[in-house]
Parts: sequence; C-alpha cells; structure tokens
Amino acid sequence: MTGGDQTFAPGTVWLVGAGPGDPELLTRKAERLLRRADIVFYDALVGADVLDLIGPEVEFISVGKRSGRHSKDQRTIDALIVEAARAGKRVVRLKGGDPSIFGRANEELEACRSAGIPVSVCPGVTAASAAAADLGLSLTLRGLARRLTFVTAHTSKGAVPDVDWTALADPQATLAVYMGKAAAAHISAGLIEAGLAPDTTVALMENASLPDRRSFVTRLDLLPLAAKSALDDGPAVILIGEALRGAAMMREMPVPAAAHAGE
Ligand code: SAH
Repeated sequence: MTGGDQTFAPGTVWLVGAGPGDPELLTRKAERLLRRADIVFYDALVGADVLDLIGPEVEFISVGKRSGRHSKDQRTIDALIVEAARAGKRVVRLKGGDPSIFGRANEELEACRSAGIPVSVCPGVTAASAAAADLGLSLTLRGLARRLTFVTAHTSKGAVPDVDWTALADPQATLAVYMGKAAAAHISAGLIEAGLAPDTTVALMENASLPDRRSFVTRLDLLPLAAKSALDDGPAVILIGEALRGAAMMREMPVPAAAHAGE
C-alpha cells in the first residue's frame, strides 16, 4: 500500500493536479481519484488525453478559465463545487499543472472549508518542470542558478503587469514566467532596466509535454519578437536565466549524421 490518504468519501472534494497535458505525467493518485469521482470540474488547460481517462459514468463539467475567453467566474466555480459536495458527490476539481501554482486553489480550499466540506489536494507536475524536461535541462545549476522563481505576469487587456522587476533581475536565478506571453515586452524591458544582461538566455515553451509542443530559444532583448512570432495560441511558459544556456547550446550543435539516415 502506498502512503497518503487513499479514501474518497462521498461529499468530499479533491483539488487534483492534471499536470501539463501528457496523461503519463498524471500521478497515480490523480488517476485513481478521477476514476472514483462522481463529478469532475475541469479547466480549459487540462489535456484532452487526461479527460479521456474519466469514465463515461462520471459527470464532467468545463469551467473554462482561459485568459481572454469566456469562463465561469471564480465565485461561481467555488459555489458549484460546494453544491456538488453538499449533494453527496465525490467531487474532483481538476486543474492544469499543480493546483497550488497560479491555480486559484486557495479560493476553492477556503470555499470548501467555510462550508464545512472536507477538501484535500493532490499535487501535479507544473508547466515549468515539464518545459525543462522537454528542453532536456535542469532549472537549477549548482553554483550558477541557485534560485528558482515562479512568477506570473498575467495582465488584463494589455495593462502593465504589477511585478517588481528589481527583485527578479538576479543573474543567479532562473525565472519561470507563467501567463507571460502577452506581457513579453514588459518582461524584457523590466528585467533589462533592472540590470539583467540583454543577452541572458530565454526559452519559450508552448504546449509542454504535448505532441504539438514548440520551443524557441532566444535572448532577453529579443523576447518580445519571439513571443509574437514563434508561438501559436497554446499555453506557454517563459524560462529565463543562465540555466537555459544549455538549451541555446544544444541548438547550435551540429545535427549528428545518423539523424539523416534514411533520408
Ligand atoms: N497550475 C498550472 C499553471 C496555471 S496558470 C501549472 O502548475 O502549470 C496557466 C499558465 O501555465 C499558462 O498561461 C502557461 O504559462 C502555463 N502552462 C500551463 N500548461 C502549460 C503547458 N503545457 N506548456 C507551457 N505552459 C503551460
């Protein structure tokens, strides 16, 4: 038997991390909870193949949440979860990546707790980890990238993100910027102004872990251009710092002769 709470009683809620999209990156616990749920409320960023794991007898309800598109507001989602649990259902709230990272988990935990509903969290693989894995590199480097910062640069309708760039412009840190595509120009200008070198390596990774992922490696001063031209409209994480230099070097490596075999 594995550790942790293995039960899923009727009238209780689990916030479950769906990971970045590849169903193989779902935890075994998440899969078990999905199979036992009566109802699943899921975000737009949950991978289609993950949703396929949910049995036909399970009710599953999209609660949207893709920036710029229509979605249910947070209070409505909180109310739906509470209502389903009160009706005696086993409720899964399925969220992209890890529920505790830019996932409004706290609102949902508090809504359940203040309604007296037992609620637990099952962690998931976050987008930055999946992106680093896809790039084949480490987010931290001994002695060189000692700090890893998760930051969101979400802006509503082109507004300037409220971010303290001075606190983030550390050449010994790796920055993982979530929801940062629209704010790419602000990120680049803000960090350079705060002292980070314009040629600091940046990697953009869209649809990490999925077959249609795409990545682009560039420099901090060219980030705005890359965010506009190199990505499609999937979710993308922006990784910045010395730790990404390996990704730039890999791109410069000559293609091994074997890769051409059979052409
Ligand atoms: N809780 C999620 C993050 C939610 S915020 C997690 O831990 O990953 C949504 C942002 O996450 C997106 O705007 C994007 O920046 C990032 N993201 C989510 N899935 C992604 C994926 N498959 N590839 C790249 N970035 C992703």
